Amino acid sequence: MSVSAERVRDLAFELVGVRSPTGDTARVARLYARRLTEIGMDVMVLDDHFPATPTVIGRLRGGERGPTVVLNGHLDTVEIPHAAPHIDGDVVCGRGSADMKGALASAAEAVRVLGEQGGFKGEVAIVATGLHEAPDGRGEDLTHLLGEQGFTADYAIVCELAAHEAIVAHLGSATFEITISRPGMPMHELEAPRGTPHPLLAAGQVINAIARRTAELAETEHPFVGAETFFIGEVHGGDFYNRHPTTCRLVGTRRWAPTNSLAAVETELRELLAEIAKVTLCEIALDLRLVRGAYEIDPSHPLLLALQDSYREVTGRELAQGGLKTVADGAIFAAAGIPSVYHGPKGCGAHADEEQMPVAELVRAAEVYVTLLNRLLS
Ligand SMILES: [Zn+2]
Repeated sequence: MSVSAERVRDLAFELVGVRSPTGDTARVARLYARRLTEIGMDVMVLDDHFPATPTVIGRLRGGERGPTVVLNGHLDTVEIPHAAPHIDGDVVCGRGSADMKGALASAAEAVRVLGEQGGFKGEVAIVATGLHEAPDGRGEDLTHLLGEQGFTADYAIVCELAAHEAIVAHLGSATFEITISRPGMPMHELEAPRGTPHPLLAAGQVINAIARRTAELAETEHPFVGAETFFIGEVHGGDFYNRHPTTCRLVGTRRWAPTNSLAAVETELRELLAEIAKVTLCEIALDLRLVRGAYEIDPSHPLLLALQDSYREVTGRELAQGGLKTVADGAIFAAAGIPSVYHGPKGCGAHADEEQMPVAELVRAAEVYVTLLNRLLS
């Protein structure tokens, strides 16, 4: 194996150098597409449905028929200001270095090595998207690619998270926005007739109900993913100390285990809100939007075992099975019927003020990808 630390570092640094917040990734997508072409891949840049976030698809075919394995990642980053990209010793620093342009550099390097080796069956593909990070991205482009566009594969490797763990399950996640309102205009508190519905007091009841439900959920630990959660992050309401308000808005998340579903979560939340609406005489509207579904893979699935074997071969260590609370794109592949695993290089500072990715991790991930691709395509 001849993974080049220099090449993978330089590509990671080059990708990090192009700003690409969620929804605005065209420049970095075209750069990545050029680099994939240079390593011998057939590359398409799909920009008809999502022109501001083109999907990059690279393909490299082996000599004989065989399965298709796709390496997947996102080129968008969270839009949080970051110091200018730089290389600090053996660490690539900059927004997106850890989440997850470094991983896409590792994927490209793995395909380059596989192509140089030759003699593999089937096909390896790389798919890079630009609508990943919520709330602006919810994987719409990847969902569209695997749905309407009919892209398919036999196995998917989602190149982030799980650097030193074999993920067998993660929670699903949705954002909620609850709008509580009453008819009429805001008015002086003393002008409001007795019994005028009060959206802030109704919001208090909703918050209490969510707190009670959170405590109930905390009692059930699901294997690998722990307890489901219900979380409020924002409360907005009222505009003056003695005005009787007309609206209040609550924003947060609901996360569920693979044994539960978005539909069931939605039904439960709507029932809870309907009851409070009846008691408070307020109108309560719910906007519940999927971020990603829950994910699980059979702990004895051949793809997962092949990943564990490949990790052991490269590192000499065991890749223990575990679970995650965060969501990612394995759920989209799984929902499309494509078995998927998570594996990426381990950086630090995803979504934090400072992101860093050690070059050694980029190399390790690329080596695991090469080993895994050789197993799946031989
Ligand atoms: Zn990410």
